[in-house]
Amino acid sequence: MTTAIPFDLPEDLPVVELSWPTRVVLGPGALSRLPVHLAALGVRRPLVVADPGIVKAGIAGRVHALLDAAGMRSTAFEEVQPNPTDRDATLGLAAWRGGGCDGLVAVGGGSSIDAAKLIQLLATHEPPLSRYDDATGGDRFVRSDLPPLVAIPTTAGTGSEVGRSAVVTLPDTGRKTVIFSPHLMPRVAICDPRLTVDLPPPITAATGMDAFTHGLEAFLAAGFHPLADAVAIDAVRRAARSLPVAYRSPGDLHARTDMMIAALEGAIAFQKGLGAAHALAHALGPVSGLHHGLANAVVLPAVVAFLRPVATARLAQVAIAMGADPAQGEAALADGAAPRVRALAASVGIPARLRDAGVREEDLPRVGAKAFEDASHRGSPRPCTEADLLGLARAAW
Ligand SMILES: [Zn+2]
Repeated sequence: MTTAIPFDLPEDLPVVELSWPTRVVLGPGALSRLPVHLAALGVRRPLVVADPGIVKAGIAGRVHALLDAAGMRSTAFEEVQPNPTDRDATLGLAAWRGGGCDGLVAVGGGSSIDAAKLIQLLATHEPPLSRYDDATGGDRFVRSDLPPLVAIPTTAGTGSEVGRSAVVTLPDTGRKTVIFSPHLMPRVAICDPRLTVDLPPPITAATGMDAFTHGLEAFLAAGFHPLADAVAIDAVRRAARSLPVAYRSPGDLHARTDMMIAALEGAIAFQKGLGAAHALAHALGPVSGLHHGLANAVVLPAVVAFLRPVATARLAQVAIAMGADPAQGEAALADGAAPRVRALAASVGIPARLRDAGVREEDLPRVGAKAFEDASHRGSPRPCTEADLLGLARAAW
């Protein structure tokens, strides 16, 4: 007697790996546990890495006050730019050396956490950063002797607090370069949803759609990765139900907590791979200045429609995770996935088209070319040519 193989199991069962060593401290008030976790890591003189917005919001000040009260001597590097460049790494490294630091605390969105990872790397590794470019196999140069990093996200989006990569724009290429290694994972992530309640709604929307896109693209990504899949579809479910609530009611701590979980899950899951939406978003940032999460959200419906012919069973699961009635049958469910994604984005004020987000039509060929250079689209379950990516950009425009 033969039994049917479930849709998400390949016939040959390959060996897969999942790295998840970050200790996660999650919940309202989690921030107060920062000194305890630093002490446990042997950190006495932390470098606090943040951006000017975090300082202005008073969050960096709260972190320094907590550290002072615990008798720790903290040094500040709080000038991180929205999309980190090697300048952030160099200035941060000077602050690290000046303060005689022995660990890092990154406070902020993906940019601050990524900048801290770059400083962490250069604290013990030879420059230049381009040496560690994942696209050229630079991960083999990243050793385990990095100083400990504690990440405190202030958005629920990138999931960089549990991620293994840092994104940096290097001036020689003007391209977003990914530096990747399991050694870059923060040792502790302190996820305090109270830190997200004052986010302006457009930032809640864009960062939340990034978390949603991580879950969705990871779930659809080619390859066998059941551990990532289980986490990915849960990120889709949580973001779909709680992002609109967090957008409308910024002080709702249940929705904010749910979004922090979605962000963690999205980043854990995309170890499996991402897809065309991320390739396009990585191009739309430098070419058109679009926020990463916003770019993902605008192109995602077109990407989901593009995947419809190759991903019926998985898109049906996505639709169910987003609230569709499973009784409709697989094909109808899968057909409904792209409209549901579009409706979710619209419900949080995301513009429907790239042109409404300020992207110029004449920039689209450059977006297509840069997206094709980006490694993210290699995760797509439907292989993408440069023409496919340009077509997706045009469809989203
Ligand atoms: Zn992303």
